[in-house]
Amino acid sequence: MKKRKSLIAGNWKMNKTPKESIDFVTQLVKNLKKYDDREVLVCPPFTSLFPISNILENSPVKIGAQNLYFEDEGAFTGEVSGKMLKEIGVEYVICGHSERRNIFGETDEIINKKIKKVVEYKMKPILCIGEKLEEREKGETFKVIENQLKKSLENFDGIEKLVIAYEPVWAIGTGKNATPSQAEEVHIFIREYFKKHYSEEISENLIILYGGSVNPNNIDSLMAEKNIDGVLVGGASLKLDSFLRIIDFQE
Ligand code: PEP
Repeated sequence: MKKRKSLIAGNWKMNKTPKESIDFVTQLVKNLKKYDDREVLVCPPFTSLFPISNILENSPVKIGAQNLYFEDEGAFTGEVSGKMLKEIGVEYVICGHSERRNIFGETDEIINKKIKKVVEYKMKPILCIGEKLEEREKGETFKVIENQLKKSLENFDGIEKLVIAYEPVWAIGTGKNATPSQAEEVHIFIREYFKKHYSEEISENLIILYGGSVNPNNIDSLMAEKNIDGVLVGGASLKLDSFLRIIDFQE
């Protein structure tokens, strides 16, 4: 039995039209077992958030966004604010996904502003951190993680709302997941960081997700690790059968 409530989150990235999203969540709710020990979250593209919010309103499935902008409103063409997301029932926002960092140039400083805005609107940020392959090979994993945490959490006072997703960049969308012990080692490091810089209580309550090529075949062994509290799933969250199997993990 897990110490903390597990969180199984699907990051759909730029996949599924509003109609496809409606069909998917309708089936998801219909086929979902009842769980007390785990929470289920879907993070569709912005265009699907409102259409699925009606379907998920009284369901156990929560809604997350994949990004937001850190200003409330104004001349920011193409951006979406926290205020807009909150109003349609979004509870979580992914911040600093490696695709945002590497394709769209997001820095830790930008991500810091974003997580603050998420909390200001009473939503929960899922802060993604993780090392690149060359950084792991140079033995810099912990240094990279520590640096990302330090910069993204500067003057942030919503720590009780924070969720961390450890996502080694080399494992995202590559089919090459971190082994459970590789992931656990970093999760322990992250938990220790929070114990050292915040408190034992904050560290013990912190939800730390693993992300990177999670699938129905590796979910059980990943979730068997003591410090892995859930997963952030990309590709395997797009198909109903595989997402349902991941949600139904057995420790
Ligand atoms: C992700 O999108 O955060 C992710 C981990 O993707 P995938 O599961 O496809 O590797």
